[in-house]
Amino acid sequence: MKLVIVGGGITGLAAAHRAVELARERSSELELTLVEARDRLGGTIATERTAGFLVESGPDSFLSEKPWALALCRRLGVEHRLVRTDDRFRKVFVWRAGRLHALPDGFQLLAPTKLGPFVRSSLFSWPGKLRMALDLVKPRGTRDDESLGAFVRRRLGREALERVAQPLVAGIYTADPDDLSLTATMPRFSELERRERSIILALWRANRRAPQTGTSGARWSLFVTFQNGMEEMVTSIASRLPPGAVLLKQRVDGIERSGGRWRVTGGLGPALEADHVIVAAESYTASRLLRYVDPALATLLGEIPYASSATVSLGYRRADVPHPLDGFGMVVPQTERRSVFACTFSSVKYPGRAPEGHVLLRCFVGGALNEGILEGEDSALLGAARAELGEALGITAEPVLSRVARFTKAMPQYHVGHAGRVETIERCAAALPGLQLAGGAYRGVGIADCVRSGEEAAERVFGAR
Ligand SMILES: Cc1cc2nc3c(=O)[nH]c(=O)nc-3n(C[C@H](O)[C@H](O)[C@H](O)COP(=O)(O)OP(=O)(O)OC[C@H]3O[C@@H](n4cnc5c(N)ncnc54)[C@H](O)[C@@H]3O)c2cc1C
Repeated sequence: MKLVIVGGGITGLAAAHRAVELARERSSELELTLVEARDRLGGTIATERTAGFLVESGPDSFLSEKPWALALCRRLGVEHRLVRTDDRFRKVFVWRAGRLHALPDGFQLLAPTKLGPFVRSSLFSWPGKLRMALDLVKPRGTRDDESLGAFVRRRLGREALERVAQPLVAGIYTADPDDLSLTATMPRFSELERRERSIILALWRANRRAPQTGTSGARWSLFVTFQNGMEEMVTSIASRLPPGAVLLKQRVDGIERSGGRWRVTGGLGPALEADHVIVAAESYTASRLLRYVDPALATLLGEIPYASSATVSLGYRRADVPHPLDGFGMVVPQTERRSVFACTFSSVKYPGRAPEGHVLLRCFVGGALNEGILEGEDSALLGAARAELGEALGITAEPVLSRVARFTKAMPQYHVGHAGRVETIERCAAALPGLQLAGGAYRGVGIADCVRSGEEAAERVFGAR
């Protein structure tokens, strides 16, 4: 069987690896080609080691609670290379009204689960706290899908949205919560409301039943990464692909159907003939590639919006940072009108990210709520990040290391109605035998979701699904 995979990010790599596994298990012949436009594999995953710092320009970890990435690491035999977060510093700060407020202990994304820390918190006003408590008595909502913003405003009030949900969600999805679909991004909360009505009570009960355990068990923290950075995942997978399977610096510009087979064209020289094609590139790219195969499908794919963002990594001498950095990082509500919307204290969160006596901080700028800032030069982004870290953490010294990485149209935005659109996309794609779509645009944006999406595409190719 000839299989062509378009896109060598984690989705395409997971698809390729699963195809190799399945071919081996079934003793079937597989001629695999993975085509990647850039000169390197990994897509948004990129790690740089320099002067004792380990800089992740894109993702710095994956979620262990969603089992697919961790399970892949086990099968690759690299689980021993994983490192967990240093949970002594699990705290997250919210930078608001000129100071850092710790997110109250037990606050789970949208709602408090521990009374004491919530009541004592300086992050919320008393009217804000009372409004959140109204969740205990508010009736259920009636809509099928609504925005995350509308949901939080309705159940917990404006402060909960503006001071916690919006900045935390921006940190994950770089998105505007008033556009983001609750069902597509956090189905757990709509399910909790449907089942138990009050979100606070439901989370509190869930915590009592299973305090702080995930499906991955206690061995791993919620987020895990590799000792030498996320690129280890990329190189581990790549090393298990057949020699010659990967074509770099080859941009696919069209996919055609001819007879019962597929032709993949581009700057590849002769077209690649294939029995199966997995498109693991962004959905707007899939839209362009499939415009003549199925225009209706192409239109739907082109309708999934993407946001752009950039990361600014700054290394400092520890002595130059007055703040104790006793947390994983800080988030910044949009109401503060700042450039930086989140900052990870990378060398606190994970070991080995900065040399002895130094720290590494990583700021996020842009995102759906502030894309205009990305029109500025790198030096402007750097200047803005430095100035704001100065205010938030008291740093005035020059950094010893600085890096800016841009991610243009890299983060799919799951707007209200996304789940319905994806179902229609999947129905259309299922009517095209031999064609599979995979990636973060459809059913989960994180690395664990992308691994699942890629692996499931490979399983459909082998009829294993
Ligand atoms: C700044 C940032 C931080 C993030 N942090 C985290 C995190 O900490 N944890 C987490 O779980 N997730 C994180 N994410 C999300 C996660 O990185 C992505 O969802 C995931 O890496 C996407 O993988 P992918 O393979 O689907 O897409 P991509 O990584 O975008 O890969 C797609 C690949 O397809 C290639 N391609 C595109 N068009 C063509 C073409 N025509 N021909 C050939 N090749 C083509 C591209 O060059 C690219 O290599 C983050 C995302 C960003 C942007």
